[in-house]
Amino acid sequence: MKPVERMIRQSRLFRPLVRRFIAGDTLEEAISASEALIAKGLLVTLDFLGENTNSEKEATEAKETFIRMLDRIAEVPAVKTWSPDKGKELLNISIKLTQCGLDQGEKFAEDNYREVLSTAMSHRNFVRVDMEGSDYTERTIAMIERVFPDFPNTGTVLQSYLYRTTEDVERIIRLQARVRIVKGAYLEPASVAFPEKSKVDEAYVTQSKRLLDAANYPAIASHDETIINEIKKYVAEKSIDKSKFEFQMLYGIRRDLQDGLKAEGFNVRVYVPFGDSWYPYFTRRLAERPANAFFILKSLFKG
Ligand SMILES: Cc1cc2nc3c(=O)[nH]c(=O)nc-3n(C[C@H](O)[C@H](O)[C@H](O)COP(=O)(O)OP(=O)(O)OC[C@H]3O[C@@H](n4cnc5c(N)ncnc54)[C@H](O)[C@@H]3O)c2cc1C
Repeated sequence: MKPVERMIRQSRLFRPLVRRFIAGDTLEEAISASEALIAKGLLVTLDFLGENTNSEKEATEAKETFIRMLDRIAEVPAVKTWSPDKGKELLNISIKLTQCGLDQGEKFAEDNYREVLSTAMSHRNFVRVDMEGSDYTERTIAMIERVFPDFPNTGTVLQSYLYRTTEDVERIIRLQARVRIVKGAYLEPASVAFPEKSKVDEAYVTQSKRLLDAANYPAIASHDETIINEIKKYVAEKSIDKSKFEFQMLYGIRRDLQDGLKAEGFNVRVYVPFGDSWYPYFTRRLAERPANAFFILKSLFKG
């Protein structure tokens, strides 16, 4: 563990900030946080935090956790009484292929992923594969293409900052797998991703509109109010029914916007992360918003 991570983990000062973005260390804490969101009319996707596994044993443990999550979700009273005609799943899960063991081998990861999907299928639930760094993009999309014909209860994520995404949007539309569109959270070189934020924003809007026109229940995942307003205008102009897509946002970010969109009748899904391996996720959230990092610096000098 690096010294900065140790300091952030051990200091009480950071606890409120960590807790703002991460629902807790345990599945039960994440379920409680999800139930509170569901009570407000929001949909949820649960994320067991963790990224690249170092061994087959670690990947197998992650797979078992995903299966436990799906079994536990099926016991949630609100899920039990949720009927499919009310919309998509009330509480689904998001996973990463590197958690399934992609670094240990493609076949090994795919077998684990399929096992998770099979459990999800038995509970009529859905598993989204998050998109990671650009080294994994092609392998992730190719795996979805292989698995989707057997398991239509899966989908993935595309990142607008990558130059390749305009073509990937068409690929995912041909497949008709559900896709979440995001700007992209990893540090990528200019050889693969737009360095300028304005270009990323522009691509994001164009790709979102294309997905709203032709994709299967796309998820527009952003906290960018200007973009959200543009999307709202677009769906109104094109008479796209609110049941045909959802907005998604991260736990603890722009809660006002989440509630506002819900009140306007949109489907809004909150991405709820939990687990002990929260550090990389947490630092990505800080990097997106200098004000959050500033809060930490201020605390350091105070304390
Ligand atoms: C549901 C969901 C799932 C995601 N899954 C993935 C994934 O699989 N792969 C991936 O690479 N990325 C993923 N992301 C992250 C995404 O790529 C962006 O890094 C993140 O959403 C910030 O971009 P933005 O669209 O909100 O716009 P930005 O332009 O970054 O931000 C717009 C505004 O949103 C608010 N905001 C944004 N971030 C924060 C923050 N951390 N704290 C406080 N306010 C903030 C601020 O008001 C900011 O001005 C996901 C995001 C969401 C919402």
